[in-house]
Amino acid sequence: MAGGKRNLRVTNGTARRSVRAWLRAQGRPCAICGQPIDYSLPPGHPLSFEVDEIVPVSLGGSPVDRANVQPAHRICNQRKGNRIGWRPDATGPRPLVPPRPTTDW
Ligand SMILES: [Zn+2]
Repeated sequence: MAGGKRNLRVTNGTARRSVRAWLRAQGRPCAICGQPIDYSLPPGHPLSFEVDEIVPVSLGGSPVDRANVQPAHRICNQRKGNRIGWRPDATGPRPLVPPRPTTDW
C-alpha cells in the first residue's frame, strides 16, 4: 500500500475559490455567448456567473489553471456541457416576431 497521498481536495478547493474570485474581479462578459454577466445574481440563477473550463475537467483540463478558465453564464455553461469551444449558433433559427402593424394614427 502506498501511503502519503496528498489531500488534493482541500488544495483544489482553495485554488478553485481563488480562481473564481480572480475571474469575478475582472467582470468580463460571458465567454460563450458574449453577453454581459450580472455578477450580483445569486448562485443557481440561470444568468449567474460560473467558472467555465475551456478544456473540461473530464477531458483532462485543470479547473484551477487560470489559463483554462473563463467566465460564463450558468445557463451557457450548462448548454455547452462537455464540449470545447462550443458557442450558441448565432445564425440559427430565431423566434419569429411578426412586425407590428403601424396603424395607430
Ligand atoms: Zn452566456
